[in-house]
Amino acid sequence: MQSQAEELNQEDSDRVAEKVFAAQVKYLYSQLPVTVIGSLAIVSCIAYMLFGTVSSTVLIIWYSVFVVVTLVRGWQLMRYQYAEDKDYQHWANTHIVSAFLGGCLIGAVPIIATNAPLEIQSFVLFVIAGLCAGGLSTHASLLKAFIGFLVPITMIPGIWFLCQSDQYHMVSGVVLVLFALLMVRSCRNYAGMLENALQLQFSNEMLNAHLEEARVSAEAAYDAKSMFLSSMSHELRTPMNAVLGFAQLIEDDEENALNEEQNEYINQIKKAGWHLLDLINSILDLAKLEADKVEVFPTVVRIGDVVNECVMIVSPIAKKSGITIDDNASRCDIEVVVDCMRMKQVILNLLSNGIKYNREGGRLTLEPPEVRDDVCYLAVTDTGVGLAQQQMVDVFLPFNRVVEHDSKIEGTGIGLNITCNLLELMGGRIGVESEKGVGSTFWIEVPLAEQSKR
Ligand code: ADP
Repeated sequence: MQSQAEELNQEDSDRVAEKVFAAQVKYLYSQLPVTVIGSLAIVSCIAYMLFGTVSSTVLIIWYSVFVVVTLVRGWQLMRYQYAEDKDYQHWANTHIVSAFLGGCLIGAVPIIATNAPLEIQSFVLFVIAGLCAGGLSTHASLLKAFIGFLVPITMIPGIWFLCQSDQYHMVSGVVLVLFALLMVRSCRNYAGMLENALQLQFSNEMLNAHLEEARVSAEAAYDAKSMFLSSMSHELRTPMNAVLGFAQLIEDDEENALNEEQNEYINQIKKAGWHLLDLINSILDLAKLEADKVEVFPTVVRIGDVVNECVMIVSPIAKKSGITIDDNASRCDIEVVVDCMRMKQVILNLLSNGIKYNREGGRLTLEPPEVRDDVCYLAVTDTGVGLAQQQMVDVFLPFNRVVEHDSKIEGTGIGLNITCNLLELMGGRIGVESEKGVGSTFWIEVPLAEQSKR
């Protein structure tokens, strides 16, 4: 409760306090019909009991005033119900005043009945005690309202009794005062509990509303980002393709052959262009994945065939870097259920990383795929720079490149994140085991086809 209130700022806390007060006043007024009808019935019984034992004129005046006060309370209830934009402080005050008036009138009964027989006086005291107990439940949402009712109903007769000289009245006066104190204590506990419960409820509602607002704006920002990324990527791809196309045309133009320096410049333009195009494509992929716009079409394929195609593609790059590829996976005839094109994208990313982040003259090993429960396990192990414990988690986050890796190694830091998302879409997963300076094993698991399950 405390910590929740601390999470709300001052403005929110004030709004919660306002709502709590409004709920307390609403509860008071929801009980008013019972209070009005009940007290009129009980007071009519008292008047009936007192009839003939006390002065009729006093009794009629007292009863008439009570009926008028009751009618005013009924009218007040109607005004409250039809009031728009309720000023709850005003309505609380109105209730307290009318409860006080009612309490005064009932509190005056023992004075009127002073000369009545003792059993009638005892009956009146019994009724007063009952009304106080009833008032506890109908007024308890607001301590002030209960006190406004309790003080006159108990203190007027209490003080009157204490001022009498006989034992019966004095003891009754002491009992009434003690009873009133007990009632105040009970009401304070009850009202406090109710206030705490209301505070908790409204604080929760306010926190939930804030959470919902934050969720909606985060979602809007996320959608805007995805839209921006995908439209920007489209816009950039077209001119980039033109740059690369014209660079190629200049390079191929035999009539205007380039000198060595110009050739170098064209090569730089092409290299930078391809890198940029690669980055744009990756961002487009990522934006689509984040916007749930990538669809996969799983079919049954031999995992060995996909690996083989990928190994063929990366072999020239590996050769250039002096990396030996140890391929023990291409011959495997385990069948898996994957989107063939996306699966190639996944394996190509792992193989090209295994080459990029390897050392010169290193090895890249593909172990034979294994059947494990309902999945096929494939691991790619390199003898490269390796990763520290935290880096093994971070590499799967978008745009996360390990800083100490050679900054000349080209990359976008998106490949593994895309790989991870694609595998998830195909019902698979990815993981890494690595030792810094020794090498890394990136492994994947993809769903097995029925015929390859054991
Ligand atoms: P990119 O290679 O384009 O930077 P990736 O998402 O494929 O992006 O990889 C993210 C980062 O993870 C890389 O920048 C690199 O620091 C690290 N990484 C990926 N594969 C390996 C590997 N086989 N060995 C060591 N580090 C790797």
